[in-house]
Amino acid sequence: MPPLIVDAHEDLAYSALTFQRDYLRSALETRRLEEGSFAAQENGHSMLGWPEYQRGQVALVIATLFIAERGTLADWETQVYRSPAEAHRLWQIQVEYYQRLEGDSPDQFRLVRSRADLQQILAPWREQPAVLPEDTSPEGEPHTVTHPVGLTLLMENAEGLRAPGELEEWFEQGVRLVGPVWAKNGARFCGGTRTQEGFTREGQELLEVMAGLGLALDIAHMNERSALWAIDRYEGALAATHANCRSLLRRTDDERHLSDRIIRRLVERGGVIGVSPYARWLRPDWSKEDDANKTDLNHLAAHIDHICQLAGDARHAGLGTDFDGGWGWPAVPHELDTIADLHKLSGCLAERGYSPDEITALLGGNWIDFLERSLPSR
Ligand SMILES: [Zn+2]
Repeated sequence: MPPLIVDAHEDLAYSALTFQRDYLRSALETRRLEEGSFAAQENGHSMLGWPEYQRGQVALVIATLFIAERGTLADWETQVYRSPAEAHRLWQIQVEYYQRLEGDSPDQFRLVRSRADLQQILAPWREQPAVLPEDTSPEGEPHTVTHPVGLTLLMENAEGLRAPGELEEWFEQGVRLVGPVWAKNGARFCGGTRTQEGFTREGQELLEVMAGLGLALDIAHMNERSALWAIDRYEGALAATHANCRSLLRRTDDERHLSDRIIRRLVERGGVIGVSPYARWLRPDWSKEDDANKTDLNHLAAHIDHICQLAGDARHAGLGTDFDGGWGWPAVPHELDTIADLHKLSGCLAERGYSPDEITALLGGNWIDFLERSLPSR
């Protein structure tokens, strides 16, 4: 059985609502339809689509509700708010996008709100791999095996909340992880990576509400000060859904990526880190035009390996691609055309001495364990 992949960060609702992308179709079909379009120019070529999830054995995605305050994104962006009332309306539209995916296409996508849902999603994937007809060799029996892909919802940037208590409503709607801040926003709850602030009084209240509801805390986009504070104090489960290792990047002052100190503390708390293959997060000097600065999957494996070396085991690293969330192909390692190619990472990890069980954990098993620990039982 090929390892199951869990991707801990995809802005599907943002991308679907901003660029009218349909994630039931193949990424390659989306690219064809978007040829020369504004979407492809601004957001890169799509890496994602249901057929690619099947081919790549991507069983589960942590999918975001992502909106930002007007003025922090480009003028043409649509998922932006001016007031908490507007934020509420946009979140509702994004939640309904996921609910509609499940309602209209239950064989393709299902929301995963509980451990019971998680077991139900994983069972068929664990029984047999997904196969699409194009995958079958001409001499083989053409057959199709497909499975629904699980979606667990993450609120990325909670600053549009009217009050921390409002999270209860979003929990009821299926949100299971929350990242309080986003880089370009202010510091209402805690400091983002472009600010110096720590947790505010209201931010501490937010953590109390989150712990009471059993929500997991995503520390991605927090500055060093806020992340360390939260790791020490938050009572619930902790993760960094999409962040790489700062010490492997040249700009060591960029708090968007995790210091060794944060990684060690997060590991002590049982946290999982999703690394991203975004080319600029692997090689800060990467550019579309310059072939000399290509990235490859070995660069991504180095970030996974660094986390494993600090942890002393292979139980705290995973994937959080952020594909289609502001960039796409070609800003990825050259071996990747779509998400279906992430399996090629297995070879790089094996070369570094990881066992098949460890590779299974790193491609998805660690996120599955994390969700088993952090989701409500039903
Ligand atoms: Zn993000």
